[in-house]
Parts: sequence; structure tokens; C-alpha cells
Amino acid sequence: MTPPDGDAERDDEEGDAEAASGTAAEQRVDPSEAFAALSDPLRVDILRELASAHRERAVEPMGFADLRKRVGVRDSGRFRYHLNELRDNFVRKDDGGYRLTVTGIETVAAILAGTYTHGGTLGPEPIDSECSACTSAAVAVYRDGRCAVTCESDHVLFAWSLPPAAAADATLPEVVSLAELYARQAIERALAGVCPKCSAPVEPRVVTERDDPEPADPVPGLRVACDTCGGRLVGPVGFCLLVDPAVAAFYRRHDRPLDACHVWEPAFVADDAVEVVERDPLRVAVDVTLDGETLAVSVDGAGQVSVREG
Ligand SMILES: [Zn+2]
Ligand SMILES: [Zn+2]
Repeated sequence: MTPPDGDAERDDEEGDAEAASGTAAEQRVDPSEAFAALSDPLRVDILRELASAHRERAVEPMGFADLRKRVGVRDSGRFRYHLNELRDNFVRKDDGGYRLTVTGIETVAAILAGTYTHGGTLGPEPIDSECSACTSAAVAVYRDGRCAVTCESDHVLFAWSLPPAAAADATLPEVVSLAELYARQAIERALAGVCPKCSAPVEPRVVTERDDPEPADPVPGLRVACDTCGGRLVGPVGFCLLVDPAVAAFYRRHDRPLDACHVWEPAFVADDAVEVVERDPLRVAVDVTLDGETLAVSVDGAGQVSVREG
């Protein structure tokens, strides 16, 4: 038999002295502090319950007693302590109840997607592609939320992160093509000046071996670094062509739709047949050739692609 739940009446009578600080909730959050607030699994349970309440009845906040019962904690003092640790950053109190802040909603979505937990592992196993450098078979692996494609001689062809929820129930080739889709979308957004991760403004840059702080390659590369979330995108300059409409149309005309190729396969990504024709301002020339026909394009220092005349 369950002991009587004597706290129910007093449940909602929390001192409201700090309630006013709830309005600061949607402002800047120190990430390490925010994640420290999620160190106890009970707090994650609270966020989950508030998220499901949010789905059921978006406008109404949830009362303390109701929330505590849904989370399944009998000790109201202990529950209040954990709930308070979530206040401001993730949870706010208004209209006599609790609801998630915008950060809270995003955090629950990330937790449910498995971003902050360990995901499954797939592979390594060969996939239907080969290395452009040495023609050995391409090998894919999905581990720790990251999809990587290398070859048997360890040339790195492609690497992209993918939340475990996206990889659940998928085969390795499906995970690879999903990671490629994410990558294409991220390149597109980054070249439009928007961080693919957090939507803050970013400045994409094309760097050459001379001014690259992390020279990974002798060929010019695309670099995007977000000051807001720390997100980074690193790839060859050919990535800019992957999402260019003129290049896509050229490939289609030659019966090789670009989105049917793996992102590492087009010659303009794989080859180093890329020429720096001007340094200041930077201009890189790339000749895209299929079946003997060439589309000549330029890429500027911000990664913008244009078709060269003549
Ligand atoms: Zn190789
Ligand atoms: Zn960002």
C-alpha cells in the first residue's frame, strides 16, 4: 500500500521571491552551467514531462503537484530542489505553473534525438564507392554520432556528425546518405552566411595553404567557424560547387545528377585540379569537365561560385 501523499496541498507554495528572475531565462546561457544543471537524471525526467505537457496543452503551464506526480517523485522537498536547479535556463514559472523556456524545448529535443547520449555503432564496412586517390574500396563507419568514410589505405573521404536518433533503425548506407544530405544542407546554409547548427551569422572563407591556420591540404579549402556555437565546417573548395545550381545543371545535362553521386566523388571535390588565379582578392578557378565538355567556374574568397566567361 502506498503511504498517503501528505505534501500535495503545500506543493505549490513555493517562495516566489525569485520568480521575477524567470524573465531573464531566454537570455544567454553559459553552456557548462546549463549542462551541469542536467547532471541528475531526475532533472532530465522533469524536462521530458514538461515537454510532453507542452505537446498536450501548449498554452497551460503545469502545476507543481501535477508535475511532481507525473515525474513520479514522492519527496516534494527533493523534487523542489531539482526543479529549482532547472529554473531560469530550462524552466520558468508563470501563471502559477511551470513550462519550458525556449532553451528547455530545444534541449529536450536534443536529448530525445540522442545528441547528448551515446548512440549505436554501425560498420565499419565497405560501401558502393571507391577512393579517388588510390581506387581502393570506400569503407564507412558510424560511431559516437559521427559518420566517417575512408578507404582501405586510410584516405579520409568524408566525415559528418549525425544525431543517433537519425541513425536508429537505418542501415549503414542509409546513414551515409543521410549524413551527406545534412552536409549538403549545411554547406548551402553556411555559404548563405547562416550557421547550419545555430543559425547565427557566419562568414564562410576560402583559404589557401598560405593563410590556412590549420593546413590540412595543399588545395584551397572552405572554412566556416561559428563564434556563437563553435560549430565548424571544413572541406575542400569543391564543396562550394556541390550546391551550385549551374554546376548541378551541367551534371544533369550529362545524365549524372549531382545528388546521385557521393559528395566525395565529383572530380571537382576529389581532384586537386583547382587553380588559385588571384590572391588579393582571392579567386580560385575550377574546371568542371564531363564527357569532354568543360564548365569553367570561379570561386571567390567567400565561397561564392560564378561561371567564367569564355
Ligand atoms: Zn585511398
Ligand atoms: Zn553556430
